[in-house]
Amino acid sequence: MNVRAVPCLSDNYAYVLVQDGHAVVVDPSEAAPVLAALEGLTLDAIWLTHHHWDHVGGIEALLARGAVPVVGSRHDLAEQRIHGQTVAVGQGDTVRFGALEGRVHDIPGHTLGAIAYEIGGALFTGDTLFAGGCGRVFEGTMPTMRASIDRLAALDPALRVWCGHEYTVKNLEFAQALAPEPAVAARLDAARALRARGEPTVGHPLADERATNPFVRWGAPAVQAAAARLGADPTDPDAVFGALRAAKDRW
Ligand SMILES: [Zn+2]
Repeated sequence: MNVRAVPCLSDNYAYVLVQDGHAVVVDPSEAAPVLAALEGLTLDAIWLTHHHWDHVGGIEALLARGAVPVVGSRHDLAEQRIHGQTVAVGQGDTVRFGALEGRVHDIPGHTLGAIAYEIGGALFTGDTLFAGGCGRVFEGTMPTMRASIDRLAALDPALRVWCGHEYTVKNLEFAQALAPEPAVAARLDAARALRARGEPTVGHPLADERATNPFVRWGAPAVQAAAARLGADPTDPDAVFGALRAAKDRW
């Protein structure tokens, strides 16, 4: 399986999974760039990580090429908030693309219906786990979001992470300001170099998040010390996580 990152809107990514002339689209933010990426391919399905407009805006135009299953979370189907959703999935459910079998992870927090797809060595995390950071907590609580980040961070470190936005440089600048560490600085340099060449920073190993993402590393002494400076009890993981997220919201 090949993954193509399709830049959409100002900083979104849609993804086109390609195998043997067939495709699955993850989070079609808008129609035009995704339709262009699908040229010559047979679309098998559309998979959504959550209901936000900048992840689902292209669905209608894709369905105009021919009806395909539109997969999203059980929560979002119950709420009827993804136009055209036909399939509801949740924790541990399988999704299929050709001969590949993948699985779904419930990751509430950014939204209550947020899910991730793990398939063919790739992990599609939507707006929950970003490269070097995490999404805003709109619908869940800080403990819910922390649990979701932990669930993703515990998966195979070799998985390639494909997230919903190109926020990597800003996230790592925040991480570096929070708790300067050589691994964070090196990753920030690498991300800046990729962006200077106009290349995406995503599709990196999950191991990078364990090494440099403060929202994954809430247990690291340097991150706990930073949280203490922000007024959080460093021995309380949810307090540390919440203080980091609140600081990032203001940053
Ligand atoms: Zn979102």
